[in-house]
Amino acid sequence: MMVRAIEVTSATELSSAQIKKIEKVFLSKHKGENVEFVYKIDKELIGGILVVDGDKYYDGTVRSQIDKINTDFKMSEVYVQAATVPKRRKSKPSADSASVKKTPAAAPEQLNAENIKAQTEKELSDIVSRYNKSFDVRHAGSVEFCGDGVIMCNGLSAAEYGEMLQIENGAQAIVLSLSDGNVGAIVLDDEDSVSAHMLVKTTGMIVSVPVGDKLLGRVVNPLGKPVDGLGEFTSDKYRPIEALAPAIKDRDKVNTPMLTGLLAVDSMIPIGKGQRELIIGDRQTGKTSIAVDTILNQKGKGVICIYVAIGQKSSTVSSIVNTLTERGAMEYTVIVSATARDSAPLQYIAPYAGCAIAEEFMYAGKDVLIVYDDLSKHAVAYRAMSLLLKRPPGREAYPGDIFYLHSRLLERAAKLSPELGGGSITALPIVETLAGDISAYIPTNIISITDGQIYLESELFNAGIRPAINVGLSVSRVGGSAQTKAMRKVSGKLRLDLSQYRELAVFAQFGADLDDATARLLEQGKRTTEIIKQDVHSPMSVEQQIILLYVTTKQLLKDIPVARIAEFKDKFIKFFDIDYADVVKELRECGEITMDMGIRIEDAVNEFALYFLKDEAHE
Ligand code: ATP
Ligand code: MG
Repeated sequence: MMVRAIEVTSATELSSAQIKKIEKVFLSKHKGENVEFVYKIDKELIGGILVVDGDKYYDGTVRSQIDKINTDFKMSEVYVQAATVPKRRKSKPSADSASVKKTPAAAPEQLNAENIKAQTEKELSDIVSRYNKSFDVRHAGSVEFCGDGVIMCNGLSAAEYGEMLQIENGAQAIVLSLSDGNVGAIVLDDEDSVSAHMLVKTTGMIVSVPVGDKLLGRVVNPLGKPVDGLGEFTSDKYRPIEALAPAIKDRDKVNTPMLTGLLAVDSMIPIGKGQRELIIGDRQTGKTSIAVDTILNQKGKGVICIYVAIGQKSSTVSSIVNTLTERGAMEYTVIVSATARDSAPLQYIAPYAGCAIAEEFMYAGKDVLIVYDDLSKHAVAYRAMSLLLKRPPGREAYPGDIFYLHSRLLERAAKLSPELGGGSITALPIVETLAGDISAYIPTNIISITDGQIYLESELFNAGIRPAINVGLSVSRVGGSAQTKAMRKVSGKLRLDLSQYRELAVFAQFGADLDDATARLLEQGKRTTEIIKQDVHSPMSVEQQIILLYVTTKQLLKDIPVARIAEFKDKFIKFFDIDYADVVKELRECGEITMDMGIRIEDAVNEFALYFLKDEAHE
């Protein structure tokens, strides 16, 4: 018969009465087993006792309570604070786990000198009988294997998925795989100093990040530590990086527009607050630019923006920070940065950390825009970790739960109901495709999770049509209801016109004889294409967009040469904003183009076109 060894360590020698009490408790826990007690004395414990029963630690020592104060202190220093893990996984229905409740560590007021003294003086047997209330019961194990930011531990039989582990050297790890007798975890910081045989303890908590206004204007790593060289900050609020998405009854309909400032997007692929719109395309097609322009366009609109960089080059991140700083957008923006140089575990937690920061603002009733740039690299980081954890590879070598990886993240974007403050998180995930293949594993997954996608194409980008949006393959499934009447009216036919034009343009390439109607359509199409071109970092107000589209769809630009449309557009918008400010104001207030306004816009175009074309004659 197997002998179960139970090790009891105390600071001073235990009396026989105390020993009797301890043995009684543990013998009753292991009825019918062959139990052997080993007693040790360790003065370092100061007071109290430590019982090690298999992989379970019943730690009632004064030493551990002092350590706890120290760790809490250290943890608040590195901005990783813990929150209790919600009970998700039922632990094995053994007598052990049923009778031992995880209790939060002793509250700080319990730990003053008086209490320590009282505790050392107290009857140890008393503590044993109350062990399930005051003992810090942890599960411990040791590192069997470590490398590439991943550790495998034995013991830890009650560790939970996503739980934070504390390693002997002070490093933290997150449990990601649970198998028989083995727990796989990823090390978050200081991975080089972890070595085999180190002691690992469960904490009953999950990783949290600092949240709140103090983060605005800052660049932080996924643990909430500043990396912008602007000094440390202290935050008194923390949120766990994993959280449940708002329930259906807590949500409201998407009914307010989230304006990107890009004419092509706001008119044809409108995004609403609380929506999740994917930006997808090959490398170097302007994906990041669309997201950054959207952030720039939120200036003065009361929207908080969060840009999460995952696996990007440090230089890309710093150029984004520069752009945002130059244009005064950093004051309402937080950047969470896990660059390609950071470890896979940090890249993996980055979007969840960003989302936790966003949730704090959302639950405070604010509107938040969050950009995940990009989720393909996030999936790759997760795949690397999963393979190292020896989880079975599936399609494209991604692990089986790759869908859950992104769905649980994107479900957290929401428009909250008025009872919950009416805040929102609008998510703009970015996915990079290879050779335009949107049917690859990760793109199809994310397309099916989001409420639409903006599809960017290299051919269009290289042909100078920028933003390079493929109108045919881009959709927004919910944002349309948030558009104003005027915008809906002018953008109604735009999409159809454009796709008709692109079809005709293919035929026209063959040099076939074209009838008048077709030629007119082509001319009109060319002008429309020119109108929706837009340079980076030059967002347009929604009124400017409506006026331009009105002018275009009413075919008022047919006298302007195609090559000069871009120039005309810029100058006309400036002219209109100043000379027809009352029309702009009226449009903003009523959200509709009345007959009278229509006539005035036409007058304005004709007046300006005359001046514009004469100008050319002079040149
Ligand atoms: P990557 O795959 O490297 O992440 P990306 O798809 O995010 O690239 P961006 O970095 O946004 O692409 O843009 C690539 C280049 O194209 C940049 O130099 C940017 O300035 C330029 N660009 C993007 N959009 C436009 C635009 N509308 N007009 C002109 N240039 C643009
Ligand atoms: Mg990019």
